[in-house]
Amino acid sequence: MSKRIYDTVIIGGGPSGYSAALYASRAGLDTLVIEKMSAGGQMMLTDIIENYPGFKDGIDGFTLSENMRIQAEKYGAETVYDEISSCELSGTVKKLCGFSKEYLAKTVIIAAGASPRKLGLDKEEKLTGRGVHYCAHCDGRFYKDKTVAVIGGGNSAVADALYLSKLAKKVYLIHRRDTLRATKIYLQPLSQASNIEIIYDSVAEDIVGENRIDGLKIRNVKDSKARDITCDGIFISIGRKPETDFLGDEIGLDDSGYIIAGEDTKTNLSGVFAAGDVRTKRLRQVVTAVADGAVSAELAMEYIERENIII
Ligand code: NAP
Repeated sequence: MSKRIYDTVIIGGGPSGYSAALYASRAGLDTLVIEKMSAGGQMMLTDIIENYPGFKDGIDGFTLSENMRIQAEKYGAETVYDEISSCELSGTVKKLCGFSKEYLAKTVIIAAGASPRKLGLDKEEKLTGRGVHYCAHCDGRFYKDKTVAVIGGGNSAVADALYLSKLAKKVYLIHRRDTLRATKIYLQPLSQASNIEIIYDSVAEDIVGENRIDGLKIRNVKDSKARDITCDGIFISIGRKPETDFLGDEIGLDDSGYIIAGEDTKTNLSGVFAAGDVRTKRLRQVVTAVADGAVSAELAMEYIERENIII
């Protein structure tokens, strides 16, 4: 029996993946979404999304994720839960190796997203969601009138510190160097936020507390002095890591591991597209992810027609 060859296989069931699935399946393509955990990606972890148009009071990430999946499946897209470990994407028929089976496709849309970088502290994983957080906008509201520490020195860390300063009593911003990486636009509001204390040249070494956060042990990298900070929550904001490790070296990645692709979502490989947070882009948001999904499906369709792929 010959193996099924999908018109398009979409790796990742976040907003870009299901938007691609919706457009592809509505256009009549035989469409499969491969998701390793549950539909929604990072969006699933977001309590309330207030900047996705059409929901005047915002919408929770879980509901929006589920709605996107159900809407795409209504038009025939299928979902399997599997994790792709390796792939061969250069040929006319693309091969994707999952843990449970191999998938074949005429086109592939990589919509695998990006996940927050971890610090690698001993209790970081155990206390994630119970005092350790990676998204200030999602979880900041638990810290009204409390004390929090934000780790990082880039735009995200500073934006998170500013956001949290409006809720929390006190915010420590802990950065490993003596200058912030964040752009100038943030520096004035930062200097005006009286409840933010910036601690430069310092790294987090340990979380104080067993089943909840009591504080953070930090060390000054210049004089090696250790110091304990008392806080109720820790927000780690040290950048994001694109989910591209499984791709091998066929596909063009930038220095940070993002797939090099423009607004047309085309990669260096014919018939392979990159949509959403996984590709090089300026603004990583649900609204830009769904736009990428639509574009990638349209181009996948065009590719199949143009190349007249009959297998
Ligand atoms: P980022 O710019 O890569 O900054 C990461 C920060 O975390 C850096 O300050 C880095 O320190 C620090 N860091 C990295 N690894 C660390 C570790 N192991 N321990 C301690 N500190 C560590 O990441 P981002 O802030 O998430 O921003 C990602 C992209 O989105 C950037 O291009 C950014 O401009 C963009 N963005 C833009 C806005 C905006 O409003 N325009 C808002 C958010 C994000 P070093 O400085 O020492 O390397």
